[in-house]
Amino acid sequence: MKDISSGDLINNIPLVTRKDYTRIIKAGKLKLNNKAQVTVIAGPCTVESKPQIMEIAKNIKSSGAKMLRGGVFKPLTFPYGDPLGRPDTDSSVTTGDRWKILSKNELFKKAEIRLGYLKEAGEKYGLPVISEILYADSVKMMSTYVDMFQIGYRHMFNMDLIEALSASKKPIMIKRHSGESIRSLLGVAEHFEVRGKHDFVFCERGVSTPHTHSIESRAIVDIQAICALNEYAPSVMVFVDPSHATFKRSYVSAVSRAAVAAGADGLLVEVHPEPDKAWVDPLQALNFKDFDLLMKDITAIVKISKKDKC
Ligand code: PEP
Ligand code: MN
Repeated sequence: MKDISSGDLINNIPLVTRKDYTRIIKAGKLKLNNKAQVTVIAGPCTVESKPQIMEIAKNIKSSGAKMLRGGVFKPLTFPYGDPLGRPDTDSSVTTGDRWKILSKNELFKKAEIRLGYLKEAGEKYGLPVISEILYADSVKMMSTYVDMFQIGYRHMFNMDLIEALSASKKPIMIKRHSGESIRSLLGVAEHFEVRGKHDFVFCERGVSTPHTHSIESRAIVDIQAICALNEYAPSVMVFVDPSHATFKRSYVSAVSRAAVAAGADGLLVEVHPEPDKAWVDPLQALNFKDFDLLMKDITAIVKISKKDKC
């Protein structure tokens, strides 16, 4: 395994590792800043309905979140699910027949309705919104609705997305793939840099390990990645996604607190009014009460931690 060498810093990742460089990240009216307080982005895995996203926006706002997340295009592991995340309740239909493959046009039209709900909720509660992009040809359509694009961990190296998003004026969150190194993540960021795209943030969402302490959990949050990214790329904000990394509700708050204490600039947390009933990822979302408690803890930790020093 290769790691970051002094040659890399000069030849492969000179732009993303610049010191004394100020990166301006503007999501809607919000200016994100790694010297400011920890930025918490919260919301459901999937935008399920207008009332659902409205209720979530209202609650996370009152707990102190700064942005609203909500998936619309769901990168499902297996093809036998609705590409927008709706659960299948008709057990009489055999798996192969369950979901008809939608044309891109049909899919985008359906997605647009949910993106509209997300935007409306964000506007009503003063929360810029972020959503995952799966298709490079949806940048234009999604730009009407979102304030920031999320590149899911599966798509870290997707050159179509890198090209298309480099031309966009909206900022980007790049999630690190669970099997990829910090060196590779910095390489992806450098692809953006050379295309003139500088307004991106990183998101650590756990690394693959032979064991994760629990049958339900999925990855291990690499706390050292926060330190390494702060060291190598001090101008880039580092978010941590404790929800998709742990995949386990009872681990989310503790891992969030640890991430903030270690110098994370922000968190991406899944929140749902009835977590067990979430269409997607029901094991990991926090309810409003637990999210509120977490936000209080985060505020207390920020007060005592030197968040820019690992
Ligand atoms: C998500 O944030 O909704 C998501 C699917 O994330 P990841 O790419 O980390 O799985
Ligand atoms: Mn999810």
